[in-house]
Amino acid sequence: MSSFDQLLSKLSTRLINSQGSETSQCVSEVIAAYGDYCQADRCYIFEFNEDLTSMSNTFEWVREGFTRHIDDLQNVGHDDLPYFFATMRNDFRFVCPEVSRLPDSAKAERDEFEREQIKSVLCIGLVAKGRLLGFVGCDKVRQKYHWTEEDIQHLSLIADMIANTIERERTHAALLETKRALELANQQLTQQANIDGLTGVANRRALDERLATEIRRAKRQQTGIAMLLLDIDDFKAYNDHFGHLAGDDALKAVSQSLAQLVKRGTDFVARYGGEEFAILMSSANASSVLKMANNISEQISRLAITHPKSQCADILTVSIGGYYEPPIADSELVKTSKRLIKNADTALYRAKLAGRNCIRFY
Ligand code: GH3
Ligand code: MG
Ligand code: MG
Repeated sequence: MSSFDQLLSKLSTRLINSQGSETSQCVSEVIAAYGDYCQADRCYIFEFNEDLTSMSNTFEWVREGFTRHIDDLQNVGHDDLPYFFATMRNDFRFVCPEVSRLPDSAKAERDEFEREQIKSVLCIGLVAKGRLLGFVGCDKVRQKYHWTEEDIQHLSLIADMIANTIERERTHAALLETKRALELANQQLTQQANIDGLTGVANRRALDERLATEIRRAKRQQTGIAMLLLDIDDFKAYNDHFGHLAGDDALKAVSQSLAQLVKRGTDFVARYGGEEFAILMSSANASSVLKMANNISEQISRLAITHPKSQCADILTVSIGGYYEPPIADSELVKTSKRLIKNADTALYRAKLAGRNCIRFY
């Protein structure tokens, strides 16, 4: 095996097995190894934009003591180096043994290469799936050099390897991007499906899910669990008097108050139905539940939403039914869930019977 074959085999194995940021590191090492091998003074990669009108230097190796140019070779436009762009697009290569003998039509190129003190340059296109992605190039600065057919073949093999790697990385990045977008869309859909459109608090569906989770947790941790059901008093009369839109605003104001009060991670507020809300409290004890019910009732009164048609006050009020269930060993999920709601609802009914604007516990 020739020394080039050995080098190529070593480099390609590394590139094939590399992943992510490791791949960039690998590409850097490939151009360094090749640059050193072919006695270049600089070896680099440029990548084109989509429509091949601009290019940027993305990797650069320079022999010790030579000047780097990567920073000043970003977003180089077609108009800056028209002869180079045209040759690259047509031939997928740019072979120049002697910069000083470039034709007059390549004046811009000659000036640029001389600025970089380049005497000879060889660039081979990076082509993957028939598309020109960029090129890999070598500069000779110390002396001019007549590139041989073998040099071109060798660099073409390196170019193939790099082109396929870049293509693989781009496909991978695009796949990751699609995956991320899908996950986000999915998250948003799930969120929308769980949120009440008018008030922005959780809906009944979300409450059912949360109930299941919290009942299981309460059973595991042997903690209490509680349910408050809240119903706005004489809300039909409120709507009839002020109109449905004003009714919607009142519902939003009530739900905002609830969301502000029900803040602990283990507590949960949901719109249960039209003008009814449910508050699920986990790791609860009886007194914390009663305290929460009182706070809610006070907070709603403090909103001071005028309600001239109320039977029990001249402002909007709520009735609250509560049920606290202490830790029990054999709580079965569906039964517990039904019991929490049924008993809170019975208590709510009693609060209504007792004249509204009050709290009753089961
Ligand atoms: P009670 O004190 O016994 O609860 O009397 P109520 O009038 O509040 O109860 P009822 O069940 O008779 O009426 C509930 C009202 O809530 C009727 C309905 O129009 C209103 N409602 C339900 N959902 C909405 C809503 O999304 N927006 C508005 N504006 N009103 C709603
Ligand atoms: Mg109701
Ligand atoms: Mg009501």
